[in-house]
Amino acid sequence: MKAIAQARALLSAARRVVVLSGAGVSAESGVPTFRGPDGLWRSHRAEDLATPQAFARDPRLVWEWYAWRRDVVARCEPNAAHFALARHALAHEHTVIVTQNVDGLHAEAARREAHAAGSADASRAMPLELHGSLFVTRCTTCAWRRDDRDAVDATSHETLPRCGWCGALARPGVVWFGEVLDETVLGRAFAEAAVADVCLVVGTSAVVHPAASVALATCRAGGRVIEVNPDDTPLTRHAAVTIRERAATAVPAIVSIGRSGSEVTIDRMRVGPGS
Ligand code: NAD
Ligand code: ZN
Repeated sequence: MKAIAQARALLSAARRVVVLSGAGVSAESGVPTFRGPDGLWRSHRAEDLATPQAFARDPRLVWEWYAWRRDVVARCEPNAAHFALARHALAHEHTVIVTQNVDGLHAEAARREAHAAGSADASRAMPLELHGSLFVTRCTTCAWRRDDRDAVDATSHETLPRCGWCGALARPGVVWFGEVLDETVLGRAFAEAAVADVCLVVGTSAVVHPAASVALATCRAGGRVIEVNPDDTPLTRHAAVTIRERAATAVPAIVSIGRSGSEVTIDRMRVGPGS
């Protein structure tokens, strides 16, 4: 397929690559997207629950939704797209994964691929999580936060998670609509995007900013955008190559071949920097 070949060629020639992923990269892992047909939870729209106002109004309802999401995601596995991206980032010092996802699947794929390659160090393939993580809980009042994969009891206000330091109500460690993103994480993402030769955009509707602007930063600096998405998005018109396929099919086809490290044969890996 022509678009696949073009994307492979662009990636082969690129020295620096930024990946910008969204909920679509995890759709084939069974994680519901916000804007697809699975976007509703008990008739609530995500946009109405993932806000500070919703949490202030009814923290129990919001925690109940996050408890459900944590539970759904905890049973999901990374798919071929997560693995291919993790392998690519482990093999290329100048590939950075930036994600809007809060599901932890890029990190899980990074850990497993590093392990499969005989290394305990997955740091190179760890994503910049622009919107935080479902598996972090933090305090509504102080700076306390912790990694947290525990089940949440949201049956009453009294059973909701509390801060381990000051005892105040705790909240999910995600960035809600209307909240400011972590400056350090966002700054790193934009800095990487601005020097990237290619921004590979996978499975995002590109309507949530500033995340979607990461791809535009690459574009503005003269880099190329490759988009993998079955549908059109506002980024499509900026893309040098558009691949109208699902992530788990398209991504492995453009960044690598096969499952094991020895079969990873993207051209850049043989002729790229450092080789
Ligand atoms: P979105 O739901 O707005 O859009 C998903 C996009 O993925 C759509 O453009 C759709 O066409 C595309 N898509 C669907 N299936 C695909 C597939 N198999 N392969 C490739 N693309 C596919 O998601 P978004 O753009 O990430 O935006 C919104 C917000 O939702 C973010 O803030 C994010 O934090 C949050 N969110 C995260 C998750 C997650 O962590 N997995 C899930 C839902 C929402
Ligand atoms: Zn606290």
